Amino acid sequence: MDGNYTVLARKYRSQDFKSLIGQDVLVKTLTTAINTGRIAHAYIFTGIRGTGKTSTARILAKALNCLSSDRPTATPCGVCENCRAIAAGQHIDVMEIDAASHTGVDNMRDILDAVQYRPTNGRYKVYIIDEAHMLSVPAFNALLKTLEEPPEHVIFILATTDIRKVPVTILSRCQRFDLVRVPIETLKKHFAWIAEQEKIELTDAANELLARAADGSVRDGLSLLDQAIAQTGGHVDEKSVLDMLKRADRGVVVDFMETLLSGDTSAALAKADEIYNNGADLSMLLTDMMEWTHWATRMHPAIHAGTVTNSPYTADQRDKINKINSRISLNALSRIWQVMVASVPEMQASGNQKQCFDMLIIRLMHIADMPSVPEILKQTKSAQPNANLQTNDAQHTTNNDKLSIQNANDLANALQASKEILLYSYYTSNIEVVEISNYILKYFDRRGDADFAHKLSVWLNDKTGHAWTLERITESPHTHTITEQKKEELESDPMVASAMDLFADAEIVGIK
Ligand SMILES: [Zn+2]
Repeated sequence: MDGNYTVLARKYRSQDFKSLIGQDVLVKTLTTAINTGRIAHAYIFTGIRGTGKTSTARILAKALNCLSSDRPTATPCGVCENCRAIAAGQHIDVMEIDAASHTGVDNMRDILDAVQYRPTNGRYKVYIIDEAHMLSVPAFNALLKTLEEPPEHVIFILATTDIRKVPVTILSRCQRFDLVRVPIETLKKHFAWIAEQEKIELTDAANELLARAADGSVRDGLSLLDQAIAQTGGHVDEKSVLDMLKRADRGVVVDFMETLLSGDTSAALAKADEIYNNGADLSMLLTDMMEWTHWATRMHPAIHAGTVTNSPYTADQRDKINKINSRISLNALSRIWQVMVASVPEMQASGNQKQCFDMLIIRLMHIADMPSVPEILKQTKSAQPNANLQTNDAQHTTNNDKLSIQNANDLANALQASKEILLYSYYTSNIEVVEISNYILKYFDRRGDADFAHKLSVWLNDKTGHAWTLERITESPHTHTITEQKKEELESDPMVASAMDLFADAEIVGIK
């Protein structure tokens, strides 16, 4: 690159409303207002960095002062004296103030003192206050006084990345515009167009990576593109952008998560070594793992029955995620997320990221393994969908004293003996057993809880060491549940019968 290289963000800065990237709503509202002569005395533009707040402010200043028309115009010419001076930041009536370096009240007073004088070359005196939230309270108060009674010829344009720090008294005097995060597709189109203008090669995959890394900011995306061009001499492909961002390929991340959640600790650590040795930044990798967890959660069957289409993954990668999702619970994903979030500051503070990352992997594997509190309460440890993650404590499935369940009462007793309180009470009060034989349970469920069959069959398989078939029939055979049976037996007991006779209104409400 030669010494005259202008950074892309400056070279391709939007010069009129039409070329503002991704701010369609703002452009429409603002142009209509200007064309119909409804000019406010104060505007505030808010949005993340690099979305075009200052550019919009300058375009607005041009629109107000362009000489191509005898009144403000939504289509400033860009070539008249005023337009050119404003674009270059050199117009005498258009003041750009960086609030970050002019936070004090004295600065603000100096600026506001000049407000009363009429513009020299333009129609309006325009004050653009960048990073307005940085102003001190006295500075805001001084500004407020002017905003309460602004001279006819003065327009204030405030720009801020943090609107919450701007006092409500100021906000209430400004017309507010929110600049949105520029969508990935819009950024890609813009970057592709610039690549064409610059005669550089930018592959679609590389463009996609840049647009995602830009996170809605045109300026951030363009400075990344600047860097990529400088590093590659103008042949920007996926590999070079990944290297530049110190990021692992998304496919690598998907494979890594697959290994991690398969429960094979040494394989996961080996894979982490490999990614690290290939030059990936581990906090970036953590970010990518969090992205994976976020999308896996969005795609989880417990949340989303259909397909999530706007994820950044290819069809192949989505298949892999779906496969993991079919055996991991939403609960486990949520705990994985929590551990990752907690690790972000840890990674930043740690002098040795690799050590920190390895420990994170081990923690994640244990967390994915652990039952949640409700799961512990239900003691259905083996019923977890992610049971195959339990590599270390799988012994409980291999003990030799297996249960034998021949009838409805056997099942009730076994559930009670193994303290499966919820399954026991559901089974005894809602299930009419039709038949139990050869590991087939045929039954009618009065309540129809879909979870019951799943949990019971997992429990049965585990306790008996056989694969059970649960056959739920849809018509009640009008037989009794275990509780009803016991109640009936009790009522026919001669001792109980005489007790019932003694108390005329007595009723058996429970059997303890
Ligand atoms: Zn002009």
